[in-house]
Amino acid sequence: MANSEYGYVRGFEENDALPPSNWIVVRIDGRGFSKLCKKYNFDKPNDRRALNLMNAAAAEVVRSFVDVVLAYGQSDEYSFVFHESAGLFERRAAKLATSVATAFTAEYCMQWSTFFPDAPLSRPYPTFDGRCVCYPKRRILRDYLSWRQVDCHINNLYNTTFWNMVLRGGMSATEAEQALKGTVSSDKNEMLFSRFGINYNSEPEAFRKGTVVYRSYSESEHLNGSLTAENIGDKASVSASKTQLEKDRKRKQKAQIVVDHPDIIGDAFWTAHPYILA
Ligand code: ATP
Ligand code: ATP
Ligand code: MG
Ligand code: MG
Ligand code: MG
Ligand code: MG
Ligand code: MG
Repeated sequence: MANSEYGYVRGFEENDALPPSNWIVVRIDGRGFSKLCKKYNFDKPNDRRALNLMNAAAAEVVRSFVDVVLAYGQSDEYSFVFHESAGLFERRAAKLATSVATAFTAEYCMQWSTFFPDAPLSRPYPTFDGRCVCYPKRRILRDYLSWRQVDCHINNLYNTTFWNMVLRGGMSATEAEQALKGTVSSDKNEMLFSRFGINYNSEPEAFRKGTVVYRSYSESEHLNGSLTAENIGDKASVSASKTQLEKDRKRKQKAQIVVDHPDIIGDAFWTAHPYILA
């Protein structure tokens, strides 16, 4: 392969290495899940089995990509946050996006029967696309995550109202859509409460907030053993750096993976877990 008269074609490949010192988000999204929902009779607006399967697949992806510090998911999408110092695949965008999307797809399909024991998968099998986006500052990364969580809230409030009007209110889809036109959040909260006795804030957090996946370490461990963005440069210059990096990788691989539904828009979650974006 090395040197042939054909080798020049390599020069046609684009260099797609992402800039250093940026947080890299790989967002994957299910292809044609509106159809897939119907095919497998997902509960509307939220099918627990499908959400749990998404979260199980995401947890395995976080476990296997040690440079991923946190993942956020809702509906048929998941965002995987790579640390700003990540060096995986020389930060090449296509390698990152395709590796994450295919790892996720493989997990989703292989774990399907655990969550849908009575509905075997058939073609077309579920697949996920993936893209990379760079965020040059922690603050902007936080805004990105807030954007996804607000999106989750807006969609879920709409879908919860819509599906209650259809499934319990006896409206057609068109009638429900009409009734929701031009409404704001408070209108929908009111419709849910007065017509269906539903207090939106009592809906499950998994539906309202989406899902966050991250590593958890015992307190002493992450104070002593971890490489942070600040000391990684120093460590790299001494001969022990390789062993330290290897230790860090092992520690991350062994860490407990937490799957939870916290608010990530406010500061509380980040203050309680300062090491995640350290
Ligand atoms: P595309 O291929 O462009 O992504 P899509 O049909 O997947 O098309 P999305 O915008 O990604 O479109 O929307 C995903 C759809 O799947 C939405 O309609 C959403 O409500 C539905 N969906 C995803 N997860 C669940 C779930 N757990 N329960 C019920 N519906 C779900
Ligand atoms: P990377 O993740 O960088 O692609 P890699 O280990 O996959 O790392 P490749 O350059 O893609 O490295 O090489 C693929 C390896 O798999 C080669 O060693 C090749 O000989 C081996 N391989 C692939 N297909 C077969 C096969 N059908 N039978 C035996 N060996 C195979
Ligand atoms: Mg190869
Ligand atoms: Mg889409
Ligand atoms: Mg989709
Ligand atoms: Mg989607
Ligand atoms: Mg290969």
